[in-house]
Amino acid sequence: MEYLEYSEKIPVRAESYDVVVAGGGVAGVAAALTAVRSGKSAVLIEKSTMLGGLATLGLINLFVPMCNGRGTQIIFGLAEEFLRFSIKYGWAIIPDEWKDGQPKQPTEQRYIARFSPNIFAIALLQFLSDAGVKIFFDTQVTAPVMEGKHCKGVIIQGKSGREFLRGKMFIDVTGDGDIMRRAGMPVVIGDNFDIYAVKAITLESCKKAVELGRIEYAVVGRSGGGVNLYGKGQPADVPLWHGTDTDSMNEYFLHNQKLLFQKIKDEPNEAMEIVTLPGMPQTRTSCRIDGEYTLHVDDAYKHFDDSIGAIGDFERRDFLYEMPYRLLIHYGFDNIATAGRSAAGVGYAWDILRVIPPAIITGQAVGNAACAALDANTGIDRVSVAEVQKRQSQQNVMIHFDDALVPKDLKHSGEHFNNFDHV
Ligand SMILES: Cc1cc2nc3c(=O)[nH]c(=O)nc-3n(C[C@H](O)[C@H](O)[C@H](O)COP(=O)(O)OP(=O)(O)OC[C@H]3O[C@@H](n4cnc5c(N)ncnc54)[C@H](O)[C@@H]3O)c2cc1C
Repeated sequence: MEYLEYSEKIPVRAESYDVVVAGGGVAGVAAALTAVRSGKSAVLIEKSTMLGGLATLGLINLFVPMCNGRGTQIIFGLAEEFLRFSIKYGWAIIPDEWKDGQPKQPTEQRYIARFSPNIFAIALLQFLSDAGVKIFFDTQVTAPVMEGKHCKGVIIQGKSGREFLRGKMFIDVTGDGDIMRRAGMPVVIGDNFDIYAVKAITLESCKKAVELGRIEYAVVGRSGGGVNLYGKGQPADVPLWHGTDTDSMNEYFLHNQKLLFQKIKDEPNEAMEIVTLPGMPQTRTSCRIDGEYTLHVDDAYKHFDDSIGAIGDFERRDFLYEMPYRLLIHYGFDNIATAGRSAAGVGYAWDILRVIPPAIITGQAVGNAACAALDANTGIDRVSVAEVQKRQSQQNVMIHFDDALVPKDLKHSGEHFNNFDHV
């Protein structure tokens, strides 16, 4: 490859933040909120024009189960707070059993919630800015400025052009590892199947909504590519997409919008409207940290001393995991860490980690870790995990699952739900 060497004088922004969060998806929102709630200054930099990332802008408006599939809630903390918040102002689909929180009786009905992505996004903005998070929209973090493995600040690019922004701790929750990759942190790049799900309305769906008096029934799905989590339906002639590659992402949008157009162009004009295209690529696994520990699917039912939160498995009843803090850091990098869909998991374990509720809990953990490290004047890679756990617990996160929830006969656990393969 040919390279250009180029130097440029970049304005330095006057302000500096304790915690700089790159990416305003659910993990980033959780990290920034946690930092300001702990009394630190935090800025959240988002390349699009709304909060929520894939959960809102990417039209993935469903919290996967936060319970064990037997009626016991596992995931709490900010995930619980965000779920409740997501259904407060817009339409909501939440099972009756879970409407008022933990059910009194055991139930196999899962604790899930579907919400209005746009209303959730604007409610989040109100919530976050009221809490004191500084937000830069329409601004991309383009590169970290490194001194060895220490990040001095980041180059951001908005309409004012490139600027240098100083900070103390940097959380890469871009989902694509934009800071980590450019900082020289070891990362793993993921392959992505072809999916492009959009929201539409039809005369039929609107009629149904009016009949039922429920606006959510007006919105129906349409798609360009429609490949599931396990690759079912991936056409042989369509490449796997790479969220970290400009050409691949351009091809992804070209291919999928053409495909969608072919599918809808002959439908009667007066009977169907596409109301929202995804504002970002629906890549599940773009880039993750090669962390100090990598979660494996066989880690089910294992306790970790450095767990920062317990989670379930959205596909399989009973299965329980703990997320070690080491999924979020790489030793030697003292002020960069990650969360959300860039936490370290391999294969299906990456899927277990990246979905909305665990992404929120890792975001919360990394926010707490950044603050604890600043308070102790140490690196985020060396912070006291006991202190992070203490803060997580005080914020209602379940750190270790209860062994009483582990099935006696593991051979018979994990009955497959078999209906979340689209996540
Ligand atoms: C097709 C599909 C279906 C899914 N289904 C479900 C489901 O049903 N339920 C569920 O719980 N989960 C589901 N998921 C997973 C879930 O939506 C995501 O993994 C989760 O929302 C990730 O949150 P995040 O904050 O880690 O990352 P993201 O939501 O990706 O947020 C990253 C944010 O960073 C911004 N950004 C990126 N680069 C930069 C940069 N350089 N500078 C500034 N900002 C930047 C982006 O615009 C985005 O807002 C699905 C995912 C996909 C792709």
